[in-house]
Amino acid sequence: MQSFQPPRRILMGPGPSDVSPRVLAALARPTIGHLDPQFQALMEEIKAALQRLFNAPDHACVPLPAPGTAGMEAAMMNLLEPGDRCVVAVNGAFGGRMADMAGRAGATVVTVDHEWGQPVDPARVEAALAEAPTKVLAFVHAETSTGARSDAASLCALARKHGALSVVDCVTSLGGIVVDAAAWDADVIYSGTQKCLSAPPGLSPIALSKQAQAAIAGRKEKVRNWLLDFNLLMSYWGGEGGRTYHHTAPINALYGLHESLVVLFEEGVQAAIVRHARMHEALAAGVEAAGLKLLVDEKHRLPQLNTVLVPEGVDEAAVRTHVLEAWDLELGAGLGPLKGKVWRIGLMGASATPWHVRLCLTALCEALAAQGVTVDAKAVIAAADAKLR
Ligand SMILES: *Cc1c(COP(=O)(O)O)cnc(C)c1O
Repeated sequence: MQSFQPPRRILMGPGPSDVSPRVLAALARPTIGHLDPQFQALMEEIKAALQRLFNAPDHACVPLPAPGTAGMEAAMMNLLEPGDRCVVAVNGAFGGRMADMAGRAGATVVTVDHEWGQPVDPARVEAALAEAPTKVLAFVHAETSTGARSDAASLCALARKHGALSVVDCVTSLGGIVVDAAAWDADVIYSGTQKCLSAPPGLSPIALSKQAQAAIAGRKEKVRNWLLDFNLLMSYWGGEGGRTYHHTAPINALYGLHESLVVLFEEGVQAAIVRHARMHEALAAGVEAAGLKLLVDEKHRLPQLNTVLVPEGVDEAAVRTHVLEAWDLELGAGLGPLKGKVWRIGLMGASATPWHVRLCLTALCEALAAQGVTVDAKAVIAAADAKLR
């Protein structure tokens, strides 16, 4: 065997995003014991930072030791018991994954299906909630498979009105658009480290409200997942009365998350959100100047995930291969019904800079030209630059 040397890549797909040298350096610091008092102090700091980032001062916040999907799994497995009714709004791949998990938890799952590219329709969700008593309403805030943003505040309010607990997937939204657990009165919110937080994949920050915690404490049967059982997890992360061994925290990964939070708070969460919006405006202007169209209506677009329709006669995969080989640039492909029909361009965290926007547009124009599509690359860059001034 030989040491693995990854190629240089610029990550502008649906995640992971570019990881800054600062975060990479933090990951390489010496491993210490997970029960070391200094490590426990780090755990406390991360919990407090997550409360601040989610704006969840009354929620319990911890990073789960696995990628974003673990947050989804924890939410479903902890809140749902066999026979519970769970309404899942599905407007893309991740909503579909939530419904699958709810079914595995034994729930009676009612999906409210939407066309891919559309935001979740609160009126249709309310109709589903009104049909029968519901334990959980689950939806994706920022649907990464399509680039659509849903109205989390309205959906969480509907859950509360109908006596259901809300589960909000904020994997792609956290750090890129406003996420506000307190204002939404959300019950369970989870995210991932590899999208707008720009740390490597492998951790899932999660926040649970008092109501969610009470529901878990009052379960009739044990959670059917040992690692993510919130009652057991909190004996490790809870802090009160000393920690007891549960699992071994991914120590170095937590150094990385901690550093990414330091970086984010240095910039300012609001400033980072404004940066994502500006980079999106520049990219969208360039894309449109190239004669391309975005899938999602302007008012529901996610700045951090831009879904560009592949024009007639263009080979979707060949364009991604071209930009990867010629520019070391990774773009995302379409999933499910959008396979072969779109490119997904991520502007997440450290990948949301003017340099990334200009690089992506330059590479895209070149790849399109290689397929015989005439684009005025100069005009494309000029359109983006006009938004960056
Ligand atoms: C990426 C993503 C996930 C899953 O995160 P992983 O880190 O891949 O497990 C879940 N939901 C949404 C909306 C995502 O974008």
